[in-house]
Amino acid sequence: MLNMKKLLGLSEEGYRDFKKAVAAVVASNLTLFLPFVVIIESVKTLLQPLMTGGAALDTGRLWLLLGVGGGAAVLYFFVYRHEYRKTYTTAYSESEKIRIEVAEHIRQLPLSFFNKKDLTELTTNIMADCTTIEHVMSHVAPGLAGHTITDVLVCALLAVYDWRMALALFAALPVAFALVLGSKKVQATLGERHINAKLAVADQVQEYLEGIKVVKAFGLAGEKSAALEGALRKMKNEAMRFEGLTGVFIALATMVLQVGLGLIVLTGTLLLTGGGLDVITFLTFILIGAKIYSPIIIILTLLPEFFYFLISTKRMQDLRREPVMDGAEEFSPASFDITLERVSFAYHDEDVIKDVSLVIPQGSVTAFVGPSGSGKSTLARLIARFWDPREGTIRMGGVNIRDLNPETLLRHISVVFQDVVLFNDTVMNNIRIGREGASDSDVFAAAGAARCDGFIRALPQGYNTVIGENGSTLSGGERQRVSIARALLKDAPIVLLDEATASLDPENETEIQGAISALVKNRTVIVIAHRLRTVLTAAKIAVLDKGRLVEEGSGATLLARNGLFARLYRIQQESLGWGVSR
Ligand code: ADP
Repeated sequence: MLNMKKLLGLSEEGYRDFKKAVAAVVASNLTLFLPFVVIIESVKTLLQPLMTGGAALDTGRLWLLLGVGGGAAVLYFFVYRHEYRKTYTTAYSESEKIRIEVAEHIRQLPLSFFNKKDLTELTTNIMADCTTIEHVMSHVAPGLAGHTITDVLVCALLAVYDWRMALALFAALPVAFALVLGSKKVQATLGERHINAKLAVADQVQEYLEGIKVVKAFGLAGEKSAALEGALRKMKNEAMRFEGLTGVFIALATMVLQVGLGLIVLTGTLLLTGGGLDVITFLTFILIGAKIYSPIIIILTLLPEFFYFLISTKRMQDLRREPVMDGAEEFSPASFDITLERVSFAYHDEDVIKDVSLVIPQGSVTAFVGPSGSGKSTLARLIARFWDPREGTIRMGGVNIRDLNPETLLRHISVVFQDVVLFNDTVMNNIRIGREGASDSDVFAAAGAARCDGFIRALPQGYNTVIGENGSTLSGGERQRVSIARALLKDAPIVLLDEATASLDPENETEIQGAISALVKNRTVIVIAHRLRTVLTAAKIAVLDKGRLVEEGSGATLLARNGLFARLYRIQQESLGWGVSR
């Protein structure tokens, strides 16, 4: 039997509820058979005087049957209400659970995962696939399982009654199922194509909406909507192809199934004339036969739907199986020395960090320098465990950071990168992100030390000014100072600092230098340096070239060595001129 728990990725509780829902469907199906028993019994009672020649009609029994019939109707109402509640509440609470679980899971995935996936696909995964699971759990799976169980039960019961008639009733069943099951592969292929077409539409819609400004400004409306229309047309065609084919198989199967009804009449008549069957049993089979096929037809229609949904749930399962980055929650090392041992790393196929070994001593500034694309930011991000190295180890205070939960590790690291993320909120709250629950005066102190206080107070509502989406109302230098204020508030022992590449005006430059000086005091600092003049004072400089560590030492040593660092330093001084102007 299919393992529904695994197929649908249900929780323990969800699976328990699912079984209850199936039981509820079986109960309501069986209740539905009660009126049939009443009808058969009534017919029997009515025919009794005719068959036995002149016996009186048993009116008492008829009244009793009428009572039972009424009772059955009332019972059905309650049982069905129970089934409805069971299936729906189970579906919705389980899908909520799955959504939360998937969101949690995504949070713990390494950033490399997001490199591979685009955002639309992720959103589709969480929203649409969960809705699908919800639908399967409420409309498809309990019905499928419940109707199957009911039919098997009824089948067994009828076989006890008269096996020959039962055989005639169900003779066409295997053929009908073989038709639907046999088309599973074709359906899966078409189903997958339909799902991909839907995904492409979601992509196009997102692109269209995101680029609406550009579309309008450059008069691309025709071109862009043509792409969207094309995707929509493809989705329609795939849907029609898929539904059309499924429909053909279901119609064929249903047709074959109905042959069974003819078979009972034929078999019944033959047996009746041969004297091997009484009229009552014959009538019973005809009545039941007319009824039993409708749940079977429901099963035949639900099966392809179920297969189709399994495609979505498989995608969800794959997502949930992606290994998360976890590790110890406890981390209190004696020191914060960082040691890299033969670290190599690749985003895709080619290594962008190659065999780097380096010691970053606690409490001092280490600068990463090198040409653009040499791997400085990547190396810094490996230290914060945004990714795990492909080879080699990174230790912090002797502990391999691969064994640490990334969130625990990040509690000890302040990250001040160029792509500062600011939220559409007040400046106060944007700084407070550094440390949840920090008091206003702590925020003021951090802002003061990061040289933000002046410009913030000059804003219309001071600290309560809402800065636009991603701080669009602030200048680049101001944004960076806000992010330094955050880091100061966080007060982590390690700081990863990505110096601004954009040339800043002298005033901003001085302010930022002041803010950085406040930040690096007594901390282990790794600075990704773009302006080499500022790193001459660093305790250690690590020079990278095409992912390799090529030089290491103090500024003076490296200048004296006259290698890559000295060359880069000279080029910068000549081309920018700021080095000389000092
Ligand atoms: P740097 O900071 O020295 O400019 P990076 O560490 O940003 O260098 O980049 C090193 C190499 O890795 C470059 O070739 C860059 O194109 C590549 N790279 C950086 N980030 C990614 C990413 N998210 N996905 C794929 N490749 C990347």
